[in-house]
Amino acid sequence: MIKLNNISRSFIGDEVETVAIDDMSLTIKKGEFLSILGPSGCGKSTLLNVLGMLDHIDQGQFTFLKNNIGQSTESQRAQLRKQHIGFIFQSFNLIDELTVEQNIELPLYYHKVAKAERKRLVDEILHRVDIAHRRNHLPAKLSGGQQQRVAIARAIVTQPDLILADEPTGNLDSKNSIQVMELLQQLNQEGSTIVMVTHAPEHVDYGTRVIELLDGNICKDKQITSEIKLTTVEVTCA
Ligand code: ADP
Ligand code: MG
Repeated sequence: MIKLNNISRSFIGDEVETVAIDDMSLTIKKGEFLSILGPSGCGKSTLLNVLGMLDHIDQGQFTFLKNNIGQSTESQRAQLRKQHIGFIFQSFNLIDELTVEQNIELPLYYHKVAKAERKRLVDEILHRVDIAHRRNHLPAKLSGGQQQRVAIARAIVTQPDLILADEPTGNLDSKNSIQVMELLQQLNQEGSTIVMVTHAPEHVDYGTRVIELLDGNICKDKQITSEIKLTTVEVTCA
C-alpha cells in the first residue's frame, strides 16, 4: 500500500535546520496495524503527516497505492486523501458547533452521499462506536473517551483503506484508552490498514507490527506475534 524510499524532511527556522525525517525507507502492506514509538521530537508526527499527504518530503520517493506522490498535483493528493484516508488526532479535532451526528455526517457531504444513505451510514456507525445515545449532543458535553469515539466514527464513516492515528489515546485515561484500542484492533481485523503513533508501549500489542524511531530514522522494526503479545515490548534503541 505504501512505499517510502530514502525520504527526508527538514524544517528551517531561525537559521537552524531540523532534520525531522532522515533518509528513511519503509514499506507498509495492506492489512497491517503498525504502531510507531519513539521519544518526543524523533519525527513520528512528521512521518504520519507525510503518509497522510498533509506534508511533503524534500527527498526520496513516496508511493501510495501505486501513485507516485512526489509527481502528483495538490488536487490529486486531495482526492487520494479523501478517497482512501481517515485521520484520528490526539485532540479529537471535532467541530464544536456541530452535534455528534453532524460531525460524523460531515465527510459524507464531501463525498456527495445522498441524504438517505448518509442517515443510514451515520446510524450504523453511531451504534458501532457505542455513542448513539449521545447523537444530539455537542462535543463539549461528552467525555474525552466519547469524543474520541466520535472522531473515530468520523474517520471511518467513509470506509477508508488507511487510518492514520496520531497518539489517539494521548488525552484519555486507561479505561477509555483500552476501549479506543479495542475499537482500532477490530477495525484492523475487519480489513483496515492502520498506522498509529503512540506514547504507550503497551498499546503495540493491539497491532501487528511496531517500529521505533530515533532522530528521524527507524531503529527497530518488529512483527507482533501472539507469543510477543501480552509481554512488554522493549522500547530502548540498541
Ligand atoms: P514527534 O511527533 O516524534 O514528537 P515531530 O515529527 O513533531 O516529532 O517533530 C520532529 C522534529 O521536527 C522536531 O525537532 C520538531 O521540532 C521539528 N518540527 C516538526 N514540525 C515542524 C515545523 N512545522 N516547523 C519547524 N520544525 C518542526
Ligand atoms: Mg508528535
